[in-house]
Amino acid sequence: MPGTAPDPIPETTDSLPAEPAGDKAGRPGKGPGAAKGAAGKLSSAMARLHKLGLKRDVDMVLHLPMRYEDETTLLPIADAIHRAGLGLPVQVEGVVTSNAVSFRPRRQLVVKIADDTGELTLRFLNFYGSQAQQMAEGTCLRVRGELRGGGFFGAEMVHPTVRPVTPGEALPDRLTPVYPSTAGIPQTYLRKAIGGALSRTPLPETLPLPVLKGPLAQLKLQPLPDSLRLLHSPPQDVDEAALIERSHPAWQRIKFDELLAQQLSLKRSQAARRDKSAPPMPRRAGGLLTAFLAALPFKLTGAQQRVVEEIARDMGAPHPMHRLLQGDVGSGKTIVAALAACQAIDAGYQAALMAPTEILAEQHYRKLSAWLEPLGVTVVWLAGSLKARAKREAAAQVESGEAKLAIGTHALIQDSVKFARLGLSVVDEQHRFGVAQRLALRGKAEPDAAAPPDKAGKGAGKAAEAVPHQLMMSATPIPRTLAMTYYADLDVSVIDELPPGRTPVVTRLVNDARRDEVIERVHHAAADGRQVYWVCPLIEESEALQLQTAVETYETLVAALPELKVGLVHGRLPPAEKAAVMEDFTANRLQVLVATTVIEVGVDVPNASLMVIEHAERFGLAQLHQLRGRVGRGSAESVCLLMYQAPLSPTGRERLATMRETTDGFEIARRDLQIRGPGEFLGARQSGEAMLRFADLNTDAWLVDYAQDAAELMLTRYPEAVEAHLLRWLGGREHFLKA
Ligand code: ADP
Ligand code: MG
Repeated sequence: MPGTAPDPIPETTDSLPAEPAGDKAGRPGKGPGAAKGAAGKLSSAMARLHKLGLKRDVDMVLHLPMRYEDETTLLPIADAIHRAGLGLPVQVEGVVTSNAVSFRPRRQLVVKIADDTGELTLRFLNFYGSQAQQMAEGTCLRVRGELRGGGFFGAEMVHPTVRPVTPGEALPDRLTPVYPSTAGIPQTYLRKAIGGALSRTPLPETLPLPVLKGPLAQLKLQPLPDSLRLLHSPPQDVDEAALIERSHPAWQRIKFDELLAQQLSLKRSQAARRDKSAPPMPRRAGGLLTAFLAALPFKLTGAQQRVVEEIARDMGAPHPMHRLLQGDVGSGKTIVAALAACQAIDAGYQAALMAPTEILAEQHYRKLSAWLEPLGVTVVWLAGSLKARAKREAAAQVESGEAKLAIGTHALIQDSVKFARLGLSVVDEQHRFGVAQRLALRGKAEPDAAAPPDKAGKGAGKAAEAVPHQLMMSATPIPRTLAMTYYADLDVSVIDELPPGRTPVVTRLVNDARRDEVIERVHHAAADGRQVYWVCPLIEESEALQLQTAVETYETLVAALPELKVGLVHGRLPPAEKAAVMEDFTANRLQVLVATTVIEVGVDVPNASLMVIEHAERFGLAQLHQLRGRVGRGSAESVCLLMYQAPLSPTGRERLATMRETTDGFEIARRDLQIRGPGEFLGARQSGEAMLRFADLNTDAWLVDYAQDAAELMLTRYPEAVEAHLLRWLGGREHFLKA
């Protein structure tokens, strides 16, 4: 009965083999201490297995080799010598003809072996006496390693794997797996542990037959147990290249199952969210929203109108919105968030807006309070830098419900902050936050607070499930493959249009040697009434050094541009000073702002039209795009100068060329994904817990469509199969995906 019985998944507690002191064929152990064995050793090995994430038998079964050693064939020594220098390991067998310790150029063991076809030298620079004895003259040895060509000593192997055998001993008929491991877990141990788990773990098919024969028919998936057995212990005639490239049908089955688990998990948490209740806040005419729109000094772009509609519809529903608002830097996401907040406030709820840095949070606060306070809305600011008293006051306003909109940093999610009636939480630059932080803000809605105001108190059981609507915003576009996988549980709205009247930013690459010309350029821009950002190099190794560089740059510019007002902002500045400098720059009291990457996200000063980025080659593409997005916000022609230090590395050159060629955030994200892989995109979303170990979105994206189809069918028709599959693949890790 495929697909119905969940795996019985025993803990591995007492089923592990004791650590071997050398394997049964008598291969040398790991020298002194290897024989200590017994209980202490066993539990420490288990602890290490747990660290690798190998807790259950099925986890071990799904721990797959990264490569193989071919011990299935023997080459005559002469043939092996013939292939020397190809860099490929070979295995030969021969009888020891001499065994001597030589002391020149340093102490080493030199062993010669011979067969009917030739002679070979084995050289060991570190060796135990017992090893030397094992290779006494007359012993037959099976030897595996890379041959180095000729020279004075003839062909030789340095530190080969050596095993005494009886002449003619049978060769294994399977490739030997090499597993990903950590220090302290020898391969021999892993092989035994995994082999044992494989033989005792039943692996019933989790894919129901109608799914295999229906949407997946074209894939012709191999059964999982066969695939696993093949990967752990491939027959010698296997297409080894296909195993290594992971294109073999056995790999395809594994990758498919993994992608399916991901889809099931994401879709199930999405469904679970839809089952929860949230306060419906349909848009109503004549309230704050209407007044705000009427007061806006500009018209929304078509794209903004569209996403505002999408969000309004979500918020009108009695289920929590879980929407990502994506729009390139400068596309106008803030106003969209403000409109959503108005809709919540109109319905009698509070809204919260959380941003990753104080500078950004404060800027949002200034902007939104300037928009909304004239309309009678109390907006409070909550950040770590607030004095205790101010913080208490703000928190009190939030708790009493007097503050309708709270804007801040992580301070918003501290335990001391309680909302009277939180209905909407907005997270700006969402990729900067961890899953836990976003969950915490959502959790700020007290059960009864999130219930409709007129029904508070009634039906507490249902109200306990209520969560606020959630809007996440990001300027980092998610490439399609990621959107389909890691973000499959999100509804996405895209602002694909910039407000009118923007002139595209012109990007130039400038050799660091031409710094004087750059300074001259700054001078000109300021003389024309423009403002300038000067971004200091990123120094990842040392924050102190980065600070020092920023201060030096600041002093150089102050000296070089005596008639201009230059400011400096960096991460170590006390928040109040930081805010003061930003305020001065916003108000055009400073013409030049020297900054570390603290200005990376969200800062909005339309009059700034020149951006200088020093050592641009040290920044990632996404970062450069964010930085460059600080200019080109007004109608003046804007320029971004990327200064670099020659010579550039190939990837450095590629990155900077990308920046020069395009200002399209999606295109940049796509190339970034190519250059760096998905890991960095996902940031905190998957930190520590790589959801996809086997599938590679660069090569396996085509499988995702199938996984989506199968997931949909399984979720509607085969709930037990869903459980069994998720248990097998995710075990207890699923909660990470729920945010
Ligand atoms: P981002 O999407 O990067 O967060 P912002 O919300 O900071 O962008 O908006 C960038 C700038 O564009 C702001 O100065 C904002 O007031 C302005 N803006 C937003 N929407 C429009 C619009 N429809 N027309 C003109 N200017 C707009
Ligand atoms: Mg923004």
